[in-house]
Amino acid sequence: MQGLMQGKRGVILGVANNRSIAWGIAKACQAAGADIALTYQGDALKKRVEPLAAELGALVLGHCDVTDAATIDAAFDALKEKWGKIDFVVHAIAYGEQLDGRYVDTTPENFSKSMLISCYSLTALAQRAEKLMTDGGSIVTLSYYGAEKWMPRYNVMGVAKAALEASVRYLAADLGEKAIRVNAISAGPIKTLAFAGIADSRLLLKYNEVNAPLRRNVTIEEVGDSAVYFLSDMSRGVTGEVHHVDSGYNVLGMMRPDAPKD
Ligand code: NAD
Repeated sequence: MQGLMQGKRGVILGVANNRSIAWGIAKACQAAGADIALTYQGDALKKRVEPLAAELGALVLGHCDVTDAATIDAAFDALKEKWGKIDFVVHAIAYGEQLDGRYVDTTPENFSKSMLISCYSLTALAQRAEKLMTDGGSIVTLSYYGAEKWMPRYNVMGVAKAALEASVRYLAADLGEKAIRVNAISAGPIKTLAFAGIADSRLLLKYNEVNAPLRRNVTIEEVGDSAVYFLSDMSRGVTGEVHHVDSGYNVLGMMRPDAPKD
């Protein structure tokens, strides 16, 4: 991996702590030679993100809440001032409420907020990135299998992820002429802050672990390594793709009869 991203500069949004998928991606990008900038959402995360950024020698752009366009602009203005242009953006952001009830009861407020934060924000970032990716670039977002199939307790998040995956295809078509590629990694369940907010998350982890072809769950480091493929020139012929990093869980048509039951 060493050197695969040498000379590339980009921003990673979504580090909350050292269990975040965004952190796994940041570590892998730095190991591959990239210069990285991070943002954080609010003061509570500032004190977690700043020491992590220092570990990687990463730039900290400050607070960025994707529901507040001014903070997104401020982050990209800071990137322009510091680096002039960028090569990659990682969007590892999601938010959803009412995940323990029924999807059919989703309120318009919850639907709009979840869509805005978990889906539209990718487009908002792509709009800003387009202006700074003057030599082309790569944008990666994070999705989950709940976009494709019903998953318990995922509700509005599943619908938002389906829209996110569709956005990847539309953004890829729009930005391809500028050599800007847009792809998604559909990660298997990983114990992060956001994941712990899903009721039955332990059951989901166990179910994936015993049934997936690799018979284990994936790690943030494995997602990070796959992100390096998308963010580096190794994937220069690939765009609009949703790539599963889930120990193969998505290929199953039926659960393995030999999987341990408890
Ligand atoms: P995490 O809690 O570590 O990260 C979620 C991030 O979203 C946090 O940094 C949070 O600050 C950020 N965020 C939420 N609302 C925001 C807003 N309004 N503005 C800016 N940032 C905001 O959890 P994670 O699991 O690493 O999640 C990262 C991404 O990976 C999400 O898109 C998630 O859906 C996706 N994903 C996670 C899993 C999993 O099992 N953990 C599986 C597949 C996909």
